Amino acid sequence: MSVSSRGNETRDTEGRAVLHGTPVSPGIAVAPAFVYGDILDEIEVRRIDASEVDGEVARLRDAIALVKEELLRDARHVSQELGQGEGDVFLVHSMILEDRSVLAAILDAIRNGHVNAEAAVAEEMKRVAGVLSSSADRYLRDRAYDVSDIGKRVIERMLGVWAHCPLSQPMILVAKELRASDTASMDRGRILGFITELGGTESHAAILARSLGVPAMAGVGGILDKVRTGEIVALDGALGVGIVDPSADTRARYERMREAEARERHELASVLELPSVTRDGTEITLMSNIGSSEEARQAAELGADGIGLLRSEMVFMSANLFLDEDAQFEAYREAVEAMAGRPVTIRTLDVGGDKFVGPENPFHEHNPNLGYRSTRVLLDRPDLLLAQFRAILRASALGTVRILLPMISSVEELREASRRLDEAKSELRREGIAFDENITAGVMIEIPSAAMVADRLAKECDFLSIGTNDLVQYALAVDRGSSYVSRLYRPHDPSVLALIARAVEGAASAGKPISLCGEMAGTPAYVPLLIGLGLRELSVSNSRLPGTKKAIRDVDLADAVSLANEAVAASTAGDVGALLGLDDS
Ligand code: PEP
Ligand code: MG
Repeated sequence: MSVSSRGNETRDTEGRAVLHGTPVSPGIAVAPAFVYGDILDEIEVRRIDASEVDGEVARLRDAIALVKEELLRDARHVSQELGQGEGDVFLVHSMILEDRSVLAAILDAIRNGHVNAEAAVAEEMKRVAGVLSSSADRYLRDRAYDVSDIGKRVIERMLGVWAHCPLSQPMILVAKELRASDTASMDRGRILGFITELGGTESHAAILARSLGVPAMAGVGGILDKVRTGEIVALDGALGVGIVDPSADTRARYERMREAEARERHELASVLELPSVTRDGTEITLMSNIGSSEEARQAAELGADGIGLLRSEMVFMSANLFLDEDAQFEAYREAVEAMAGRPVTIRTLDVGGDKFVGPENPFHEHNPNLGYRSTRVLLDRPDLLLAQFRAILRASALGTVRILLPMISSVEELREASRRLDEAKSELRREGIAFDENITAGVMIEIPSAAMVADRLAKECDFLSIGTNDLVQYALAVDRGSSYVSRLYRPHDPSVLALIARAVEGAASAGKPISLCGEMAGTPAYVPLLIGLGLRELSVSNSRLPGTKKAIRDVDLADAVSLANEAVAASTAGDVGALLGLDDS
């Protein structure tokens, strides 16, 4: 119960701060917060006296020596695994540490400015990164990221923290914004929940939270000032509420809620043993969305009918590198072997938008979601596309593999990508390398233009897969990652339903299968609607397999078809929400 209010923060009856946000992933967690910020901005600036100078310089030199050693080790390792070019990146990083003027400025700040070593490093690295990032030369601009990265590494060595985190126990991650690349390298086993200032229900942090099955809320303004690392937070992801430093009573109440929820999940899991059919016996193929071979193994254990979407960019982001053909092949091979003959749909790289490998948005676009993203990048970089096609084709010799092309906006793009795929096949044939000659290739329908010409796209490929996460944002002009417009992000808007219906009809007219792999498929309230619209294959994250299967088993096809007809004919999202029993306020 809140008794007083300040923006998105209220006070409970015991005077504890209660944070309010957009619920993006259900669940309960009670754990210390880890406030994840940019370590370069968080360094404490401390005046040191003359007697401390030598000690600070020694700490600095030790840290630099350690980081150089690490970089050389990484360079050797990556060169062996991925080739000389990739390894050289680490050598360039190590050269930054040898730059005399950078080192001289840091030493000067310690010796003459009398500041602690980490503050001196942070200041100089920020200055150099600032100069580089304002350069007209793109290569130099990209180096700004390297400089910041090196500064962070040196500071982390000095402070003895790993990846900014002083906590050894499981935690709730609190951040201004979490991009896919921020979470890719984190120890996911220790994350019990997320709270962010930015990001909406379909941002990648939200999708990650749901796939980990942990609670999350977004849109909590000024979050970095409201919680400190180490403070306990009781988080209810379904309500979008977090209590900072809860009383013993509140903690006990949340603990009981968490246990009840775990019991419920356990009971729900028993549905996984049962077939994926509606009450009237219509079979629905239920696949899994994954981003790693580990998740492929989980999907196999949970009895998924296959992988409907392997987001290959997640594999790249975990390594923070553009992986070469052999490294990609290894990752795809593991996923294909884990699924033991069940289909694995590997999507080509979907970088750009809010997903970057390495430097954050290296293209400096104002509207990255409308810009240089995904297939647009790969068609411009045939070297990357060919390497990826070759890796996927090679993996196809080991099981059932499908290729999926993201962000296709026209038939021309599909034709160009198909031509590149044919080239990759011809190369492999010439080299005598095995692949599945019957491999199928499909197109994601996630841009309204693609939905409108779905019949023509379907004629020229083997299958379609609807990506509602993007389709909704492009249809409604609502950024999927923005907390400011998240209440306008409504997958059940009649315009979105019309696009889905159009895509389903397009696939049917060409006699090709169609699936849906956006988060909509994993939302039980939407399942009857999607089946009523004609979908017979759904793909959801692993944590959503039980809930989705239960929803499928509750569907009656005739009822679902009337529901879909009514929903498509409705005038507003509110009307559809009412039909679906959604709380659409
Ligand atoms: C989608 O857009 O619905 C989708 C599945 O792709 P992603 O979430 O990776 O953009
Ligand atoms: Mg998408």
